[in-house]
Parts: sequence; C-alpha cells; structure tokens
Amino acid sequence: MASGEGPYLTDVDGNTYVDLVCSWGPLILGHAHPAVVQALGEAARRGSSYGAPIPREVELAEEIVARTSVEQVRLVNSGTEATMSAIRLARGATGRAKVVKFAGNYHGHVDALLASAGSGVATFALPDSPGVTGASAADTLVLPYNDIAAVERVFAESGDDIACVIAEACPANMGVVPPKDGFNAKLREITAAHGALLVLDEVLTGFRVSPSGWFGLDGVTADLVTFGKVMGGGLPAAAFGGRADLMGHLTPAGPVYQAGTLSGNPLATAAGLATLRNAAPEVYAHIDRVSAQVSKAVGEELSAAGVPHRIQHGGNLFTVFFTEAEVTDFDGARAQDTGRFAAFFHAMLEQGVYLPAAAFEAWFFSAAHDDAAIDRVISRCRRRPAPPPRREDEPATPRPSRPDSLQDALAAC
Ligand SMILES: *Cc1c(COP(=O)(O)O)cnc(C)c1O
Repeated sequence: MASGEGPYLTDVDGNTYVDLVCSWGPLILGHAHPAVVQALGEAARRGSSYGAPIPREVELAEEIVARTSVEQVRLVNSGTEATMSAIRLARGATGRAKVVKFAGNYHGHVDALLASAGSGVATFALPDSPGVTGASAADTLVLPYNDIAAVERVFAESGDDIACVIAEACPANMGVVPPKDGFNAKLREITAAHGALLVLDEVLTGFRVSPSGWFGLDGVTADLVTFGKVMGGGLPAAAFGGRADLMGHLTPAGPVYQAGTLSGNPLATAAGLATLRNAAPEVYAHIDRVSAQVSKAVGEELSAAGVPHRIQHGGNLFTVFFTEAEVTDFDGARAQDTGRFAAFFHAMLEQGVYLPAAAFEAWFFSAAHDDAAIDRVISRCRRRPAPPPRREDEPATPRPSRPDSLQDALAAC
C-alpha cells in the first residue's frame, strides 16, 4: 500500500480501495484523521522521545482508566508486549506457573501463548511454531473455547497451579466467535474461587466495540486487562492494567520486572490520545450502523447466490463464515470453506473493496466510512454490478480484470 485517506487505501499501482481492515482495527477514525495528524506534527516538533515520563502518557492512562474497569495501567508498545507482561505479572503475583488459554484465541506472538490446540481437555500444549521450545509452552493449558465444563475440569485437576486464565474478551481472531451468554462471568467466578487471576484481552475489542470496549457490553471485571490497537491510533502503543494491588507488584514498586525504552513515548501517546478523545459516542453509533448495514447487504447477496454462509457478530465486529453451522469454537471456525472465502476476497478486491485477507478475521469500519464508501461496498457485492458512477471527489478504482459478478466468482469455486 502507498497511502491512506479516510476510508480509502491506495496501492503502489495507484488503485484505490475501500479499506475494511483499518490496520486490523486501530484506525477507528480512518486514515490520516486531521486531529491525529496535527497531534503527531506538534509532538514530533518537540522531539520524539525523552526516555523520561511525560504528562501525555499520564493523560492517556487516565483516559483508559476513565473508560474501563482498570484502576492502574502500564503503557507498552504492542499488544504482544501487553499480554506477555500481564502473564508475567499474573505468575509473579500468584506464585503459580500455569496459564490457561483457549484454542483459536490470539494474544500476539508471545511464546507461551502461541500454543493453540490439539483437541482434548487440559492437555499440555505442543509448541505451535518452530522456535518455540517445549519448555516455554509446557505451562500453557489449551482448552476449547466456550466450554465451561472443560474449564471446571482443568481447575478441579490443577486449580492450585493455575496463575491465570487469559481469553479474548470477545474472540475475533478465529473470526468473530462471541462468548456464550455468561461465559466470561463464569470464568470470573471459577478463577476467583481458585485464587487464580482472570486476564481479559481487549487489544482488539478495547475502545472499538464500545467506548469502553467489550467491558462496556458485558460488564465482567477482570483482574488484568490488555489493550492496544485503537488506543495507539495507528502508532505503536498498548497497555495492560487492572487492580491497583496487582499492579503494585510491578517494578519499581514491586519485584516483577517490566520496562520499555520507548513505552509511552511522545508520538504514540499523541496519536492515541487524539484518537480516544475524538472517539466520541457518535463514532460508535456510526460504526454500529454501517457495520449492520454492510453485514445485512452481504448476507442478502450471498443468500441470493445460494452460498452457504453464516454471519457472526460481536458488537460492531462481524465475520462472514463460509459455513452454515454456528461457530462457537476453533474447530467450528476451521470447518468453514476457506476456498469460497478466497474467491469472495479476490472478487471484492477486484471491485475495489479491501477485506481482511483471511477467513479468520473480523471486518473493520471507521468514523470515516461515509455513505459514499459504504454504498461502494454494498453496490460492489451486488449481482452484476453496474459500472459505478464516478464522482468528482471519488478516487479512481481498479478496473475489474473480469466482468464477473461476485456471485459468478463464488459459483465457480
Ligand atoms: C492484535 C492482537 C494482539 C497482538 O497485538 P500486537 O500489537 O499485534 O502485538 C493481542 N491480542 C489480541 C486480541 C489481538 O487482536
């Protein structure tokens, strides 16, 4: 890609797309939002990093605390760093080693959290990536998502050894697979009963599905919460936070080491703060509306074409699964027809709509996705789309290399 503006991305060949990836979530205001660009310019002119605390990182922390359940936060540079640090803190604070995670939940590329599955309950996970040693994954217990009985069993067997359960607040990295009613609350109950901590990962959902993330929709208070993506406004900023007594275990107040040369740096905090301050309730109302509009239109077109599919929502996030069965876990997500997804993705790309290039992802919208951008998405997935009227202010669109409609493309696969 070469540049981004509002809801559009332009590639190095000069083709412009409606962007439904939004950098995998962070760009809730769209590309190059004037307030973010201005804040970045002002910050850069004053120097990009001092290696010392600045008022703006305190303001960003206060904004996070005001919107969520956490009492204190520590700023870091990526979601990976946030979950890695949260796990270390959970282990350090409880004096226990084991971590429970769920298959299909993604928490960045932390060695101990890359283990994804192997069905079966409470099995010691094998490393999932070359370079991850058995030792670093040995204390990771992987369970099927949405399966409370499996959680109860693993706690009955090894509850005293479990430092924490980590879960995406609403999984969206195996496609959107929302927690069943009461699932997060039950995790809260079980972990508390065994002296283990609950870590909810809101790196993706935080400040995106509501002003206070998934917490704003289901209200379950975790011991520790991780944030990233939207809170950095397109620059590298992330955070973990939680109960003040737990955060007190971190250096320099406590013994659990954590540090970062560029954490809370002037540029990232400028972009993050400008983004959060402009992410007003109307932004969320807008995203809720356009997300519902597009998912409805896509569903109608796929139904008209006789393509088996199922659209699953988690707040304003959704995924089009190419299967008819309800997807409640990773096995279900993997049972979809990824060949059909590939045809769908490429047909949309040729029509100038840039979707997440994987069947296991959510679609992302922003405040900048106006009627023109949304109409373009909806008209492009309609049967035999007429050549779109080119507005004066509308950027050039790539010429479909084939005249086929989306339905023809799907029917062919
Ligand atoms: C993106 C993501 C991460 C990792 O964040 P990075 O900034 O890419 O390291 C962690 N958890 C969840 C839920 C995510 O979606």
